[in-house]
Amino acid sequence: EIILAFESSCDETSVAVIKNGDTIMSNIIATQINSHKRFGGVVPEVASRHHVEEITIIIDDALKESGISYDDIDAVAVTYGPGLVGSLLIGVTAAKTIAYAHHLPLIPVNHMAGHIYAAAFVTKLQYPLLALMVSGGHTELVMLNGPADFSIIGETRDDAAGEAYDKVGRVLGITYPAGKEIDRLAHLGQDTFNFPRAMDNSDNLDFSFSGLKSAFINTVHHADQLHQTLSREDLAASFQAAVVEVLVDKTMTALQQHPVKQLIVAGGVAANQGLREALGARLATQMPDVELIVPPLRLCGDNAAMIGAAAHILRGKHVFAGETLNAEPNLNFARA
Ligand code: ATP
Ligand code: MG
Ligand code: FE
Repeated sequence: EIILAFESSCDETSVAVIKNGDTIMSNIIATQINSHKRFGGVVPEVASRHHVEEITIIIDDALKESGISYDDIDAVAVTYGPGLVGSLLIGVTAAKTIAYAHHLPLIPVNHMAGHIYAAAFVTKLQYPLLALMVSGGHTELVMLNGPADFSIIGETRDDAAGEAYDKVGRVLGITYPAGKEIDRLAHLGQDTFNFPRAMDNSDNLDFSFSGLKSAFINTVHHADQLHQTLSREDLAASFQAAVVEVLVDKTMTALQQHPVKQLIVAGGVAANQGLREALGARLATQMPDVELIVPPLRLCGDNAAMIGAAAHILRGKHVFAGETLNAEPNLNFARA
């Protein structure tokens, strides 16, 4: 089975060719980061224009690298939400056009389902399983009771973890997206600021990162007023320690309430070394039977391979879309 998959929900244009849901034949990713950096975030109009310019080239590259032709393809898959409407529409339109022209079924994929199914390239998934979804726009604990059967058991009440990294990074003068650089700095510093761990002791599985972000920004501004210079490394280490501690604690609580054999960490923030290390260490001591699955770095950020992996599962469940498929910018999993 060969799936041609599309991803264009934000600022990456990506096309992949995926065999049997777990083998990457090609996965071309064109990032627009350099065009958005000077604005400090993704500019929707700029993003859609880039997607339009890139998409046909990327399709050609993905087909060429995989060595397949249109005759070999069994289905076309595309991210139809959540994301920026103008960006999503480019991928949706391209996928619909190819599906129609080549008489192929079209599989609609939720971008967050894609992030979770990036784990399918690492190991064989066993249900029920838990996913810690940490990305630029989402922070959620998601239960999968079966293939592509998602329900949210905990989520952020304000900022997403990646969003907090990016906002705090701006205060340190780090260009968007700041997560990777803060992660690097954090490993050079110490947790000396003792920032708040919001909702850590609450008995629900929800998160909150806006208080932490404000505490960080206030600390830096206060020091500026006093003409003091704070250690960037210690600030980064303190911020990261607070984020990681809450993410790990809540995930452990979720695992106690919902016994599973596998834990997936998904989304751009899954690339975080501090989070990977802390979660791995805590599982090893407290729940050694739970398998931790973290996709390789290249599959943590936005890419079409993960969309193809999710599409493979959806094809098995006969989930298909017609020519009327539209972008759904606010598409989300249901809360349990
Ligand atoms: P969503 O998937 O919720 O729609 P998105 O697609 O914009 O949002 P992703 O591409 O999954 O988000 O992830 C990007 C985010 O990951 C950014 O906020 C970035 O700062 C963050 N990030 C990337 N690497 C790291 C890292 N090593 N540590 C922390 N955060 C990171
Ligand atoms: Mg991105
Ligand atoms: Fe994403």
